[in-house]
Amino acid sequence: MTERPRVFVTNSMSGLQVPGGGSVLAPLHERTRCEVWRQPGSPPRHALREAARDCEGLLCLLTDSIDAELLAACPRLRVVSSCSVGVDHIDIAAATTRGIAVGNTPGVLTETTADLAFALLMAASRRIVEADRFLREGLWTPERRWELDMFLGRDLHGATLGVIGLGPIGRAVARRAGGFGMRVLGWSRSARSVAGVEQTALERLLECADFVSVHVALTPETRGLLDAPALARMKPGAVLINTARGGIVDEAALAAALRDGRLAAAGLDVYENEPIAADSPLIDLENVVLTPHIGSASIATRARMAALAVENLLAGLDGRPLVHRVNP
Ligand code: NAP
Repeated sequence: MTERPRVFVTNSMSGLQVPGGGSVLAPLHERTRCEVWRQPGSPPRHALREAARDCEGLLCLLTDSIDAELLAACPRLRVVSSCSVGVDHIDIAAATTRGIAVGNTPGVLTETTADLAFALLMAASRRIVEADRFLREGLWTPERRWELDMFLGRDLHGATLGVIGLGPIGRAVARRAGGFGMRVLGWSRSARSVAGVEQTALERLLECADFVSVHVALTPETRGLLDAPALARMKPGAVLINTARGGIVDEAALAAALRDGRLAAAGLDVYENEPIAADSPLIDLENVVLTPHIGSASIATRARMAALAVENLLAGLDGRPLVHRVNP
């Protein structure tokens, strides 16, 4: 009888269950010699290296840095399965050179992440978090019971949304915008026809959109795509939403544009460095809604992502095609 393959899982996934109940990791425990990181947070680098050293499979999160050095330290590794759609935490070229299959979990989180982008869009445009703080701080007094100019925001209906990146999530956001009576402009690296979306150049999108939502993958080409000159092109009073990756937007330039009022507001779920630094200039700005990278965080979606990551890992270990493979 052949020995079951060794795998390391960097998170216990204890809060997630498959539909009908049962641990999402049960298939791994049945079919592999599976070691699971059960401490809070991600394994520190040395612990990850130590645990993965003799493994053939690795199931990781986007908080685990799977770089060339780590891959070199794991000579038996055949599959890296990430419980995420973004794979900027994995050195794909190094994995490919070593013949390691890399899997991710697209599709199952599309609608949930688009919901969060829209939630940020609405919260930022209607100043919901600011208003909530006002109320909780006891500032809603009888003298200020209802004021004509209290927390004036911006309408979505009739406004133009610019979607940067017409992948699955960008298209799902565009669909929502159509339902809200918005005109939608879109920009994508490759031209593609999307119902209800007028494709245009990035420059024109930035100049014309009242709301801009970012949905490209983070790659060397998209890093800094929205740098200071690009942000300066945005319509005065526009609102920026980023649920893709932090490195795509220049945070210092964004904070400056929000501070001087050139941009009305922003809604951010992702940051250049995560967690965001306590002294980030964004934290003190009233006109920014900040969430801690929770785009795909619904109960059902996180369970689907974990189940798909497990399926990818087992397929790779069996020598079958992964359900979603990133590298050739
Ligand atoms: P995706 O396949 O990750 O990204 C698709 C988009 O990225 C497409 O528009 C694609 O352009 C564009 N793209 C890829 N490489 C590019 C390059 N070099 N230059 C310009 N554009 C490039 O699909 P997705 O599922 O819609 O996800 C989008 C991103 O959202 C993910 O990459 C991930 O980082 C992020 N995300 C965040 C959360 C969260 O929790 N906040 C959750 C899920 C995903 P083409 O169409 O032209 O190829």
